[in-house]
Amino acid sequence: MKTIYDLAEEIRRCTACPLWKGRTLAVPGEGKGKIMFVGEAPTVEEDRQGLPFVGKSGKFLDEMLEIAGLKREDVFFTGIVKCHPPENRRPSIEEVKTCKEKWLEKQIEVLKPKLVVILGRVALKGLLGQGNLKEIHGNVITEKGLKFFIAYHPAEGMRFPVIKKKMEIDFKKVRKLI
Ligand code: SF4
Repeated sequence: MKTIYDLAEEIRRCTACPLWKGRTLAVPGEGKGKIMFVGEAPTVEEDRQGLPFVGKSGKFLDEMLEIAGLKREDVFFTGIVKCHPPENRRPSIEEVKTCKEKWLEKQIEVLKPKLVVILGRVALKGLLGQGNLKEIHGNVITEKGLKFFIAYHPAEGMRFPVIKKKMEIDFKKVRKLI
C-alpha cells in the first residue's frame, strides 16, 4: 500500500492534465492528521513554495483552526487540484475531475480521514457534484462512508467580513464534530 509521501512524489511528477505546464511546483498537500481540508488550487505563493495554505490565506485558516480547536498537526491540507492554474483562473471541470480521480481519491483512501472539510465552491462541486454553498455551508453530508463538512473558502472569508463571520460560526461546529 502506498503512503501519503509516495503519492506526493508521484503528484510532483504528474502531467495528467494541462495544468502541469504552468506550475513551478505541484502542491500535493501537507500534514498527516485525520481531518482533511480540501481547498481549490494553489495560489502563486503556494506554487512557488510547493506548500498549501501559506501566506495570508494560511494565517486566516490558522485563525479558523483555532476556533475549531485544531492545530496544524491535526489536519491534512490539500486542494482539489494540485497545480496552479495560469492567471489564477478557476480550474476547469475536466481538470478538477482528472486530479480528483487520480490523486485526491487516493489520498483519501490512504489517510482515511474522520472528517473532510470542503473549502469553497470548486471543491464542493468537485467532491459532491452539486450543492449550493450559500445554502449548505455549516452542514455535514455523509456520502460513500465519508463525512464531509461544508465551509466557505478562506479567500472569500478574507475578502468579505460577512463571510468571515459565517466561517467563524461554521468552524465552531467543527469543534463539536471532532
Ligand atoms: S493538476 Fe493534478 S492532474 Fe493536473 S497535472 Fe497537476 S497533479 Fe496532475
